[in-house]
Amino acid sequence: MTGRLPVAAVKGPVLAHEHLVLDLATASSPHAVLRPDRHAACVTGELSGLRRSHGLALVVEMTCRGMGQDPGALVALSQEAGVPVVAATGWYYGGFLPPEVRETDADRLAGILIRDIREGIGATGVRPGVIGEVGSSGQRPSPAERRMLEAAARAGVATGLSVATHAHHGAGGIAQLEILTGAGLPARRNPLRFLTGACASRSQVTPGPRWLTRRKPDQPFR
Ligand SMILES: [Zn+2]
Repeated sequence: MTGRLPVAAVKGPVLAHEHLVLDLATASSPHAVLRPDRHAACVTGELSGLRRSHGLALVVEMTCRGMGQDPGALVALSQEAGVPVVAATGWYYGGFLPPEVRETDADRLAGILIRDIREGIGATGVRPGVIGEVGSSGQRPSPAERRMLEAAARAGVATGLSVATHAHHGAGGIAQLEILTGAGLPARRNPLRFLTGACASRSQVTPGPRWLTRRKPDQPFR
């Protein structure tokens, strides 16, 4: 994320969908938060431990707009842990979509993503390596979700990046594929792992690091 990383340089396991920073707190669910100022030591401790024990070679971090995106924090976490991190750009889904998605057409949304990818996210200079995790809820994406998914696909076509999706509660994965491929994105560049919830059982979803998997659903992150 702080420079090009040739595929040949990745010589160990990859965590393909993680959140090292996160803010999904809502009034009814205030605990889905990973804050750099409170949780950095825990996150970097586990990443560096996985590097030493399993040769962890890369983390793909999927926190985008609307869910606590913080590219600067990812740089610090990556450097502290000694593990390369790929940053993401996009918008999440449903109630996490900011007003810009509700008020902007797909072409302009795609332009925002393309600028991120070519020039860096905001003023950070951090260039994302994946578009994600962009999502929807329900079997039929809302109009705003549909515009955002179309924008993600167009940005993927323009830049060569893949698009990783979130199908909330396992619904809508097929509709997402139709939107993405309909906008010209080859199906092979839409990571199916992120659609497993839409098409298969939860047992097929790859477990994440321990700081995520060992907590109960309503237990706060520590
Ligand atoms: Zn995720």
